[in-house]
Amino acid sequence: MTSHGPVFRFCPQCAGALAWVTQTEDGGEKQRLRCAACGFTHWNNPTPVLAAVIECTDRGGRVLLARNAAWSGRLFALITGFMEAGETPEEGIAREVQEETALTVDAMALIGVWDFQRMNQVIIAYQVQAHGEIVLSPELAEYKLFEPQDVRCWPAGTGHALAAWLRSRGHLPQYIDLPRPDPAAATE
Ligand SMILES: [Zn+2]
Repeated sequence: MTSHGPVFRFCPQCAGALAWVTQTEDGGEKQRLRCAACGFTHWNNPTPVLAAVIECTDRGGRVLLARNAAWSGRLFALITGFMEAGETPEEGIAREVQEETALTVDAMALIGVWDFQRMNQVIIAYQVQAHGEIVLSPELAEYKLFEPQDVRCWPAGTGHALAAWLRSRGHLPQYIDLPRPDPAAATE
């Protein structure tokens, strides 16, 4: 039984009770939350999350990392946001960068795609060139501009994307150690 992602109790189609039921699927027997009344299956597929390594072209190519207002620690991380219905990944990351930093996006390229199983997400990470005045959204408490060689990565999710971007720029990624509330979350 998977414990990743939210656990729903009621069917979104008929409001019947969901239960863990094993059925034979294309890939074999699989236990999922299912509705006995209408046959609904909660697939619990990972949610796409867009992430940006922002290079500020009008600030010497320094990298903008931001600290989320909801975080207690001092970690500065990538700009991220959920992909929305009706947009391409490229449109989505341009929207997120604009909403969260007010920067204007000039160019972007895919860094790569990573799993983030603890949150049942898939990280789609872009390198983004942007310029303009920085105005943070209320979600973000503060930002810092880093020279690429000063950036520190973290061993999860978007941290791997940042490391891959550093390698593409000829820098050896340096990782910081993070406390891990859930040792099972470590996939690397
Ligand atoms: Zn149902």
